[in-house]
Amino acid sequence: MGMKFQIDDACWLGDDGWFHRGTIRIANDRIAKLESDYASDAPSGDEIVVPGLIDAHVHLREPGQAYKEGIANGTVAALKGGATTVLDMPNNRPPIATRALFEQKRALFARKSRVNYGLFWQTTDGGAPAPETAAGAKIYMAQSSSLPAIGNADALARIFRVQDLVVVHAEDEREFFHGVEKSFPHRGKLSHHLRRPRAAVSAALKSIETALRKTPAKARPRLVVAHCGTVDEIEWVRKMKRAGYDVWAETCPHYFLLTEEDYLRRGAALQVNPPLRTEEDRAAIFEAVKNGGIDFVSTDHAPHAPAEKAGENPPSGIAGLEWLGPILLTLAKRGEISWKRYLEISGQNAARCFGIEARGGIRAGDWADLAFVAFGKAAKGVREKIATRAKFRPYEEFDFAARVRATMVNGQIAWSNGRARSGVRGREVFA
Ligand SMILES: [Zn+2]
Repeated sequence: MGMKFQIDDACWLGDDGWFHRGTIRIANDRIAKLESDYASDAPSGDEIVVPGLIDAHVHLREPGQAYKEGIANGTVAALKGGATTVLDMPNNRPPIATRALFEQKRALFARKSRVNYGLFWQTTDGGAPAPETAAGAKIYMAQSSSLPAIGNADALARIFRVQDLVVVHAEDEREFFHGVEKSFPHRGKLSHHLRRPRAAVSAALKSIETALRKTPAKARPRLVVAHCGTVDEIEWVRKMKRAGYDVWAETCPHYFLLTEEDYLRRGAALQVNPPLRTEEDRAAIFEAVKNGGIDFVSTDHAPHAPAEKAGENPPSGIAGLEWLGPILLTLAKRGEISWKRYLEISGQNAARCFGIEARGGIRAGDWADLAFVAFGKAAKGVREKIATRAKFRPYEEFDFAARVRATMVNGQIAWSNGRARSGVRGREVFA
């Protein structure tokens, strides 16, 4: 754009995990120069600047089900949550498993997305490798679109040979329970978390491991276990990493803030795949978020229309994009995670994993993707409007201590004080 400006007297979270006070100079969509007057290990005031977050797992439902969210509206939710890059999943209607559909979806994002973006490719057994411009390939071991689930280790191994990077939904649907149990709540049906037992997770991990071992080391893809929600996944990823496999772990705020008890109490609104689990699982995920074991936190933003959630057969999914930054920032501000760790799980690691260049940090030469954050009084007592069309606050019982006041995408303020600026569009990060 050729625009040059500066942010004076800013307190930004540097790549070294320290807070710097000084001037951020921006030129041509990028951070041109950082002039740090002094640095400290904690914020020196109630307002800070952090790197725009990278949410590596969202479902904006367009094309096909834009009434549930849509790219324009979903990326407003992203900006409200401080996220400046999203990676969108391919289980659209129809699923993004052909070149033509992939290109159509790219064109839609180019026109509508208010944040930077990358798109996933949906794998099929025998299907083509993900396009060069894709974030990676998504494998569903439980059906999530019109395409069948990838069932067994042989099918996985065939896919592993073809793809460079796979994100796996690790629940083996053959382990799901389809019976009806009258003694359970929720309209006489077995509760969601019991219909999808954790045995489905361990079965999936077993198949993945078999398939990885079967695949020659050179042909193995990088593998991300999506939305980890159990102790089993944390232990498995740790074991595989130790054995030298290129395996990464993602989780979402609901897996370390909520449990199956919350689901039983609050009902269909908290019905999600994979389901919320026990307090022991939640505590293990939280521990891995704090101290390692989880590589990055995404939202798995999966909105549904309120009427659908209130219906006889509610669909699974939680919309969380607009609370991602506020949750992680609150944890760091309270000292539950270090600021260095905050940087890793909110963007740095996802950028490394997916090969997103010059984003996820505040460094000279990077794209100017920034979130302007307020703590303390400025964060409280704000009557916020829900951005997502899901119109539901999954984290209403969380004690927020941080709020995003404004979000900058490639050097342009894209959102501030509750309003998105018209005309600001993100860039495709793998183009
Ligand atoms: Zn998902």
